[in-house]
Formats: sequence, C-alpha cells, structure tokens
Amino acid sequence: MKEIFDVIISGSGPSGSILGYLLSSSGYRVLIIDKEKFPRYKVCAGGIQIKAAGLIPFNIDSQIHNVIKKIHFQRKAKDDFLGEYDQPLMYTLDRPDFDDYLVKKAAGAGCVVKTGEKVQEVSAGNNNVVVFTGKDKYYGKIFSGSDGANGFSIKKYNNYRKIRKIIGYEIEIPVSGYCKKPYPESKNIRDQERNFALFDKDTVVIDFGGVKFGYLWLFPKNKRISAGMGGFPEKSKEIKKYLSFFIRNTDFFDINEKQELPLHAHFIPVRKKNDFISSYRILVTGDAAGLGDGFTGEGLHNAILSSHIAFSSIKEALKNSSFEFHDYSEMISREIIKNIEYSVIISKIFFSSQYFYYKLIKKNEKLFKSCCKILRGEKTYLDVVNKLKLIRI
Ligand SMILES: Cc1cc2nc3c(=O)[nH]c(=O)nc-3n(C[C@H](O)[C@H](O)[C@H](O)COP(=O)(O)OP(=O)(O)OC[C@H]3O[C@@H](n4cnc5c(N)ncnc54)[C@H](O)[C@@H]3O)c2cc1C
Repeated sequence: MKEIFDVIISGSGPSGSILGYLLSSSGYRVLIIDKEKFPRYKVCAGGIQIKAAGLIPFNIDSQIHNVIKKIHFQRKAKDDFLGEYDQPLMYTLDRPDFDDYLVKKAAGAGCVVKTGEKVQEVSAGNNNVVVFTGKDKYYGKIFSGSDGANGFSIKKYNNYRKIRKIIGYEIEIPVSGYCKKPYPESKNIRDQERNFALFDKDTVVIDFGGVKFGYLWLFPKNKRISAGMGGFPEKSKEIKKYLSFFIRNTDFFDINEKQELPLHAHFIPVRKKNDFISSYRILVTGDAAGLGDGFTGEGLHNAILSSHIAFSSIKEALKNSSFEFHDYSEMISREIIKNIEYSVIISKIFFSSQYFYYKLIKKNEKLFKSCCKILRGEKTYLDVVNKLKLIRI
C-alpha cells in the first residue's frame, strides 16, 4: 500500500520549501518533488527584501552576503546620484546556495524530498490527488503547485501564452579579475563624481532608460556581481543588447568585446485577475500563481507570503476535510493580488514618464524615502497611489 501524504508539493524553490517546512514542522506528512538536483542554478538577482526575510520561519544569517543601504541610480549610465537610507533596504544572497539551504531545512523538518524528478500530471479525485512523475506516481490529499514561472502548474491550469510576463536577463560576473575596482578595496567613494558605487558592498546600482519599460541592476554578492535587466518580453532583443553594451562599455567592468557574456533568461509572471489560484484539492503558490511584482519584478516576498497563507488554509482544509480552498483564493486576493494590481499601475505611470520621475526622485529626498519604505515593506503601492491621488479607489 502506498503512503497517502497530506500534501504533495511540486517545486522546492523558496515557496515550495517554506510551505513544506511549515507543514512538516506542524506534524503533517509532506512530499516535495523537484525536477532539479540541488544545488541548482536559478536565474535571479538574489535581492531579498527585508520584509521577505522576516517571513522566513528560521534563521538565514548564514545565507546573507551583503546588507544593502544605498542605491546608486543612473539614467543610461549618466546623470547618477546616490540615495542612502538609514536602515537596511534589502539583503543579497546566492540563489543556488539559498534554495539548497531551504530545501535542506524542509527535509530536516520531516519533508520527504525527491529531487531530479519532474511532475508531469496531476489528477484530483473525490478522495485524493494523484501526482505522476516520469518515474513514479504519488498519492496525497492536497497538491500544491509551487513550481515556478515555467513549471508544470502554471501551464496546466492557465493559458500560458496569455499570462502577463516580465522577462529578466542575468549574468553573475566574478568580482576578481572583472571589476575595475573590486569592492573589498573600495573606500567611501561618495565624493567622487561618477561611478561612486563601484561595488561598495552595501550599494546596488539601478540604471533606467536603457529600454522603455524596464531597468538594469547590479547587485553585489560576496564574490560576484549579479548584472541583469528586466522588461517586456517584446523588448527582449533590446534588453540583451543594452545589458551587454552596459557591461562592456561602462566603467564598472573590465570586459572587452571579445569576451562571451552568457546571459540567462527567465520569465517573471505578473498575474491578471482571473488567473488560476485554486480548485478542489489544488492550490498554487509563488511564481506558479503569478505573484511577481509588476514594477520591480521581485517575487520572493510574495512567494513566501503565499506559502504562509497556503499553510493556514491547508491546516483548515485538513481539519475540516473540506478541500475547496475558497478561503485561500480570498486571502491571496486580499493580501497579495491587490498590491500586484497597484504595482502594475505604478509601473505604467513611472515608466511612461520615467525621466520626469527620475528627476523628481533625484531632487526630492522625501520621495526617495517613500520608495525605500516600499522596498522595506513599510508602505504599499496602494499607499503611494493614495498619496499621489492619481486615481480614486
Ligand atoms: C532575472 C531575474 C531576477 C530576479 N531577481 C529577483 C530579486 O532580486 N528578488 C526577488 O525577490 N525576486 C527576484 N526574481 C523573482 C524570483 O526569482 C522568483 O519570484 C522566485 O524564485 C519565486 O519562487 P518560487 O518558489 O515560486 O519559484 P522558483 O524559485 O522558480 O522554484 C520553482 C521550482 O520548481 C521546480 N520545477 C519546475 N517545474 C517542475 C516540475 N514540472 N516538477 C517538479 N519541479 C519543478 C524548479 O526546478 C524550481 O526549483 C527574479 C527573477 C528573474 C527572472
């Protein structure tokens, strides 16, 4: 007789592993299946918001590379300024190591973890769910699709072509040998005229204007810089071209025209109102639920928050043997989706007049501080929209 798990989770990225950890720590029987063997590469800048880190139910100090307090803004590599906040804005970490750490935590809490096995089909019947992989089939009471922007669940339960997406390109550039001024040696360089951030460990670089709706980032890790750029998929060619040009021609890196720049690409799904969230015995979390931020493209916070919401909803479902998950849809809508809708509005407003807003943030420290509060999770996009009185709610 095969075991019937309480919950089967597809995907052990942050949302799947944290959901697994929460459930197993409370005594539920959980199976996590991931198509990759860990540690595995993940296309991500590796910036984790303070508010996201605060939702992780165990200590992650060992995973944090840098504590970010400053943002070096640029407009097409010019017209730069340094915005500084008195408290940490976010942390940087290495996704392969971080995700490996999370899945080990889930296993340590009691999850059965199967890696290198791909979920290929799920069927939900009256009494259970059956999950088919290429190698085996597994039985559970509930299925959580936590398998990311490109995984089984988002494709199974939506019309994938119609999902709203941002595309992100990323490359991890070793500091040693590639940076003109590796950050361990950099001093307080705020007085310099340009490129003052040349990889101070507490500074990220954000460059606007390279493509119309998008931005470029440089995030410092311990031994590497994540250099990347996100924007609309229709602008893929322009994004790649500008990112490559930026890496080769600005003052940050020592990389010449002949050196290869193997850029990695991945989608960030930004859900529309009616995209799938749950059905009988099934729910989706994180990127699989399209919970990417429509302005910044970040997804870790919403992924982890959705795992907490799924955890409380699953506990109720198992207690009452009621598996409709209407409460999950309602909570996700209230706690996350509203803010995603406003992130899309803010993105349209900002990027359609980005030079104007760029100058405004440059001149107006109060506005810069408001942006920092959003990053830190002390303010939401809704607060900003209300404040700007741009629309009536
Ligand atoms: C270029 C780029 C930069 C980004 N930078 C940031 C950032 O700095 N900060 C931030 O907050 N967010 C960032 N994001 C978004 C962030 O990476 C995601 O939102 C986050 O990883 C979502 O976590 P998740 O657990 O939902 O999915 P994932 O982390 O994608 O994990 C999904 C897991 O499911 C597995 N899987 C897929 N298909 C199957 C299958 N069929 N069967 C079994 N397993 C499967 C995958 O192997 C993977 O391990 C970035 C995204 C991109 C593309």
